[in-house]
Amino acid sequence: MPNPSHPAYEVRRQVNTIAAAVLCDNPGPLEGDGTNTWVLRAPDSPRWVVVDPGPPDSPAHTQAVIAACGGPDQIEAILVTHRHYDHTGGLDDLVAATGAPTRAWSAQWCRGAAPLEDREILEVAGLRVVVLHTPGHTADSVSLLADPAGERALLAGDTVLGRGTPLLDPEDGSLRDYLTSLTLLAQVGRGCSVLPGHGPDLPDLVPVVHYYLQHRAHRLDAIRGALDTLGATPQDVEPQAVVAQVYADLDPSLWPAALLTVRTHLEFLAQTGV
Ligand SMILES: [Zn+2]
Repeated sequence: MPNPSHPAYEVRRQVNTIAAAVLCDNPGPLEGDGTNTWVLRAPDSPRWVVVDPGPPDSPAHTQAVIAACGGPDQIEAILVTHRHYDHTGGLDDLVAATGAPTRAWSAQWCRGAAPLEDREILEVAGLRVVVLHTPGHTADSVSLLADPAGERALLAGDTVLGRGTPLLDPEDGSLRDYLTSLTLLAQVGRGCSVLPGHGPDLPDLVPVVHYYLQHRAHRLDAIRGALDTLGATPQDVEPQAVVAQVYADLDPSLWPAALLTVRTHLEFLAQTGV
């Protein structure tokens, strides 16, 4: 049977020798094509590790993930990249079906196992997986670097997307953290593929991270320019006035998202004073 190409819903799409995606049928403004649940194992391992169970109330997705691993007993462990409901909502259904221990940065999403630690090395499904705490999209975001012989892949959650750039959560996301995390990911080196939480997989992490850093730098410059024009400081400006300056050409339906982004960048400028 030919391997399906992205996007293909609720089927296993093999991406490389260790990883396959099961794309959930939950497309939307924040979800893109839908949430990617990743299933991975070393070629000689009988059992799998699942990364990000997917959204709540999605039994067809839970069943597709279990089928992709050859049955509920074949899932050795579950890992969570971050707390957002479209990644964690299906967790308890998958745990109920498989009994698999689950690890995440936050204890809230752990089941029968301890929270992840930065730079921890996991031995799971025959793979060696390095945990990198990469806050910014949310405070609890981790990126998982799977490093079997010769083929490196980064499970990036929503820190690096297959398409577009992520919004930073106004609750506990932070541009300062995000820029630090991107700079860390740039050190991973060339030839590491990206297995993102949304969108297609990407062949090389580093150029994407450089583009993200450049994109954020340009936006910060545009916002500094708007502050100059308005004669205001990041602390006292009305964010909507900055949106009107920077995003004058934007479709008004996207202004709420632009307002979020502007707030994130103003907070950064206020924190750093640069
Ligand atoms: Zn997210």
